[in-house]
Amino acid sequence: MKLFVRRTGGRIGLWGGLLAAALAAFAAGWLVPVRAPAGCKLNELTAAPDFSPFSPAAPVVAASDAGTPAAPSLPEKWVCLTFDDGPSKTTPEVLAALDAAGVHGTFFVVATGYNEKYLPLLTQAAAAGHQIALHSASHEYSDIYRSSAAYWKDITLLKERIAPYVDAENIRYLRFPGGSTNTVSRRYGGKGLMPQLKTEVEQRGWQWVDWNVCAEDAVGGHPSADTIYRNVVRETGEQTHCVVLMHDSATTRTTAEALPDIIRWYTDNGYTFLTVAETLPLG
Ligand SMILES: [Zn+2]
Repeated sequence: MKLFVRRTGGRIGLWGGLLAAALAAFAAGWLVPVRAPAGCKLNELTAAPDFSPFSPAAPVVAASDAGTPAAPSLPEKWVCLTFDDGPSKTTPEVLAALDAAGVHGTFFVVATGYNEKYLPLLTQAAAAGHQIALHSASHEYSDIYRSSAAYWKDITLLKERIAPYVDAENIRYLRFPGGSTNTVSRRYGGKGLMPQLKTEVEQRGWQWVDWNVCAEDAVGGHPSADTIYRNVVRETGEQTHCVVLMHDSATTRTTAEALPDIIRWYTDNGYTFLTVAETLPLG
C-alpha cells in the first residue's frame, strides 16, 4: 500500500489521499459507505486501499520535481473539475459558470441516444478550452460490463456518435461508469473484468480517470447548491491534488448553481484549475 502524495519520486500517487480522507471520515464519526451517495456510486466501490484516481502509469509530477528535465511542472495545489453523464439540458449552465470564472473543466460524456440533441454542445465546450473525454454510450452496466468485447463495442459506439462534434479519434482519456473499482461489473462480467479493462486501456496508451472528491450532486432528493458546495469542501479536506466528480446530467440541476462558490473556495485556498489532460499529459 502506498501512502500519501509523493512529491519527489517523479510521479505522485493519490492512493493515500483517499485513504486519508477515509480515515478522517472514520475519525469524524461517519463512514463513507454508510452514506452511500448514489451519484458517486461509492456503494459500488470496493474498499481497496490502493485506490488511485488515475491509471498507474499516470505521469503526474508536482512542482518540486521541476528540476527534472522533461518533467511536466504542476502547481503544488491543483484541482480538476470533472463532469460526467452529459451533455444534457444542464450543460449550458455548467459551461456558462466555468466560462464566467475562466476555468476549464473536463467532461466525461455519454451518447445514449436520448441526449443526441445536446451533442453539439461538445463542439462549443471544446472550442472554449474544456476537455472532452469518454464515459459510455449507453451507461448501462448490464450491457457494457458483460465482457471486454461489450465494453469496447460501447466505447466505439460512443466515439461514432460524438465524432460529428469533436475529434473523437484522438480522445484517449476515459472514466469507467461506476469508477475503476466498481463491483457492479462483477455481476455481469465477473471479478476479472475491471482489471482486464484497465489493462486494455493502458495497453492502448490511454488513461482511465477516477476521482478523489465527490460532489454528491447526483444523489436522490436533488441536493441544494449549498449542500453540493459543502460536500466538495468536506471531501477535499487536506488533499492538494483533487479530481472532483460532478455531473451535467439532465437530473443534476443544482450543480451549475454550486460552481461559483466551489470555484471561489478552491481559488481562495490556492488551487490552480487544470484539465485532466493538463495533469496527465500523454506521450
Ligand atoms: Zn456516469
